[in-house]
Amino acid sequence: MTTRYDADRDEYRAALAEIGAPRYRLDQIWDALYRQRAPLEDASSAPKALRARLAHRFPLALTELARAEGDAGMTVKWLWGAGEGAEVETVLMRSPTRATVCVSSQAGCAMGCTFCATGQAGFERHLDRGEIVEQVLRAQHAAAQPVGNVVFMGMGEPLANYDATWTAVERLHRDLGLSARRITISTVGIVPGMRRLARERLPVTLAVSLHAPDDTLRDTIVPVNRRYPLTEVLDAAAELAAARGRRVTFEYACIAGVNDAPAQAVALAHLLRPLGALGAHVNLIPLNATTGYPGRPTDRRRLQVFASVLRERGVNTTVRRTRGGDIDAACGQLRNRHASPAAPGGSALPPPAPSPSATMAPWTTFAG
Ligand code: SAH
Ligand code: SF4
Repeated sequence: MTTRYDADRDEYRAALAEIGAPRYRLDQIWDALYRQRAPLEDASSAPKALRARLAHRFPLALTELARAEGDAGMTVKWLWGAGEGAEVETVLMRSPTRATVCVSSQAGCAMGCTFCATGQAGFERHLDRGEIVEQVLRAQHAAAQPVGNVVFMGMGEPLANYDATWTAVERLHRDLGLSARRITISTVGIVPGMRRLARERLPVTLAVSLHAPDDTLRDTIVPVNRRYPLTEVLDAAAELAAARGRRVTFEYACIAGVNDAPAQAVALAHLLRPLGALGAHVNLIPLNATTGYPGRPTDRRRLQVFASVLRERGVNTTVRRTRGGDIDAACGQLRNRHASPAAPGGSALPPPAPSPSATMAPWTTFAG
């Protein structure tokens, strides 16, 4: 069965021909699907009966299991049932003029980063193109503002599901009209995927999750580092930066007493030096505490010291502001809560502990 946002124009064309609808309806339907910011059933182009038949022929892939709102409704997070028992999350972050959607690329993740709720839960399955695109459209239907940014920073490793991720990117660009630069793919550092990305025609933005300035530490919190160590990840990032003529963003989740010492900031600045003239942008994110990992977020003062050390060494650095922490906005956290003992069939996990300091969605820098 082909789902609504997986089907391509040829499949809609064939369905219209089967129904006996005139060919010009195809553009109207495509407009209803991708440009009207409303569900197909409520769109204003094409007759209602035709839209209803197509909606039946191409059903949605995602069923809403839970929805949470924070920041007075400006942040909305969904937990979707995606078939075969898979559950994925999407976050919508609104500003007065536009919206950012954070999408999942996989149900679960096989990379096993120790501090990440998704990594702690393990891998379920890849999402297909339609499931990725649908997350953006379903979020758009809930927002008055047009979606201006899409970030692949929800559940899963997008470069471990390359083909579905990339065909979703192409559709978001061509049919939803999103600028490629406003589509950000965040990777844990899958080197072959990064190299492939460097050769793609669309100049999407890349973010690389580093979290440690040396291999010894990174091996312990980002296990895939044993396969793709820092020098290789940075080399691939440099290739991509050169291909695009733009600097790459590096994400660094600050964990108290683990990776947040001033000496580690010095080591990080040193590590990023080979990126040369284009330089690097470092995004510091206080850890969002999860039940499966004992680490705590770095406090504000220490975070500022870490940022100053980087800046003094010429590294462009930002510290993410708080948003969405009140709705378990970090990867995989809504799903864990949903699966708490209160929910039928849930696991024995207690709900995530509230973080004493500002916890935040890892995605918020891109909002607004
Ligand atoms: N798999 C990709 C994209 C999804 S994770 C990646 O790892 O980049 C998106 C971002 O959220 C990554 O930078 C990830 O390291 C970060 N992240 C995951 N769990 C987090 C947590 N508990 N606190 C802070 N950042 C977290
Ligand atoms: Fe997977 Fe990214 Fe979480 Fe690591 S941080 S386990 S790569 S989703």
